[in-house]
Amino acid sequence: MSLTKEQYATFEDIVGPGYISADPVILYPYSWRSGLYAGLDKFTPLFEAAVLPRSTEEVQAIVRLCNKHGLQFKATSTNWGPYNDAGGPGVIKIDLRRMNRIIEINEKNMYAVVEPYVIGAQLQAECMKRGFNCNQNGAGANCSALPIAAHGGYGHLSQSGSYGERNMLALEWVTPDGEIIRLGSLGSSDEWFCGDGPGPSLRGIVRGNVTPLGGLGVFTKAATKIYPWSGPTTFPIEGVSPRYAPSHIPPHFLIRFFSFPSLDMLDEAQRKIGESEIAYELMGFNPAMAASNIATSNEEMVKLFKEFGGMVQGPCCMVIIVGDSPNDFEYKTRVLMQIAEETEGKSLDKITDDPKVAGGCLWRWIRSTASIREVFRATGCFGGEVGGTDTYRLMADYITETGKCKGDLIKRGLVYNDGSSPFTQCIENGHTGHGELLIRYSPNPATWDGLMEFMGKANEIAIKGHFGVPGHVFGDAQHDVYGPHVSNYHLWLRKIKKSFDPNNASEGSNYITVKK
Ligand SMILES: Cc1cc2nc3c(=O)[nH]c(=O)nc-3n(C[C@H](O)[C@H](O)[C@H](O)COP(=O)(O)OP(=O)(O)OC[C@H]3O[C@@H](n4cnc5c(N)ncnc54)[C@H](O)[C@@H]3O)c2cc1C
Repeated sequence: MSLTKEQYATFEDIVGPGYISADPVILYPYSWRSGLYAGLDKFTPLFEAAVLPRSTEEVQAIVRLCNKHGLQFKATSTNWGPYNDAGGPGVIKIDLRRMNRIIEINEKNMYAVVEPYVIGAQLQAECMKRGFNCNQNGAGANCSALPIAAHGGYGHLSQSGSYGERNMLALEWVTPDGEIIRLGSLGSSDEWFCGDGPGPSLRGIVRGNVTPLGGLGVFTKAATKIYPWSGPTTFPIEGVSPRYAPSHIPPHFLIRFFSFPSLDMLDEAQRKIGESEIAYELMGFNPAMAASNIATSNEEMVKLFKEFGGMVQGPCCMVIIVGDSPNDFEYKTRVLMQIAEETEGKSLDKITDDPKVAGGCLWRWIRSTASIREVFRATGCFGGEVGGTDTYRLMADYITETGKCKGDLIKRGLVYNDGSSPFTQCIENGHTGHGELLIRYSPNPATWDGLMEFMGKANEIAIKGHFGVPGHVFGDAQHDVYGPHVSNYHLWLRKIKKSFDPNNASEGSNYITVKK
């Protein structure tokens, strides 16, 4: 299917000639994908055209036209994720980059209302000026601050700043057939403070396990919770990327990196730190992730990784403490040190004794620019296993099991040997937990086959071990594997898709499609 001139003109009428294009020079970059989700590096199907609306009403008009012309659409906030592709021909890209306004920061009720192209760094900077902070997607502060744009939205700040699903309050939604629906308190009072009412609540429907990934209409505005910040209004950063760090560590900030003799001890430490509510950040970083964060080149990363590997006694975690006052800081620090002693945590002083290194990590983990180094450093390409979000221990056990399969890939020389130590994290002081396994590799057919084998085993472990539905499960094939083991949820998901998208206009290859 291709877009006719007449159809193109109808879209042009909505946004104006400067904000629509079907030029291949514009369309090819939207379709470039590297790594695991796309197979090997390649172009995915080209969009028919890209349109850039400025308002909810323009989005609605575009969606209605797609329904009328029998076309599909795929919305994108920042396009950072690998789920932004056209599944096939006949798809219009709705690029939301012109919808980039922070509508409101409500200090009293502690939420911010954003459009889709407000990025995490932008909202964070505005919040910090007012004594607040917001969760940052672990994928980077370059991702959308809209809590339903991302896949999960877990990140470095999730210990104190939670994640997408729990942060989302009221929502403005253009449904797949072009209605504008205001969910939560917005539906009854024009206020954004609640996601569930008074007013209609469809939070579970619109979000699901990992958001509908473009397959259920367009989210045009949302409110997200914000959290207290006791740090400076701007961080004292000096230098230029990749060599930048704060000139000094602000008062009442502490960063530590601990290793533990066993996974049980790490778990115990994470549990106690959560229970005592002392940590601003807590991430189960392994030595490879720490090394990637600190290094400014691949060579340095390899050197540091070897060095750190020799210093740690077992699985690790990073903790950031932020004191709200001198007394609060002293209290939290003492509790942390006591927990470390009780769980035999050994501090990796190489990272934290040098204020430049410690300050650099501190800032990169608060602003969340670290992920890019963690995943692309060394090979330029990554994939891996995204565990779910459930009780911390269940997720830690799942990632430990899949880690053994990664060990097998390493032994066969298929992927970069950065160890198979699990990466786990607590969310909201242990309310839930999350685990991931990063795999860095150079794309080639042998690696690809090995990774597919790995994913098969990871699915088998999740299903047989009753570890729940992991975050890597999206799209028909994966849902069909998991659904029969989980109350046939895939059949319900298809019913939702069919009810809200009768014309199949919202391209659903990464969500679910209604099979004929
Ligand atoms: C290097 C890397 C590291 C990552 N690490 C993490 C991590 O630590 N934690 C985590 O949770 N995720 C992680 N991810 C996944 C990440 O959340 C996604 O990449 C996400 O896409 C981030 O960009 P975004 O929020 O701007 O959404 P986009 O990339 O723009 O879109 C993501 C998906 O949501 C849909 N979508 C986006 N905006 C809208 C909208 N307004 N209306 C309707 N549909 C929309 C898109 O169609 C797409 O399917 C990582 C990804 C990468 C590439």
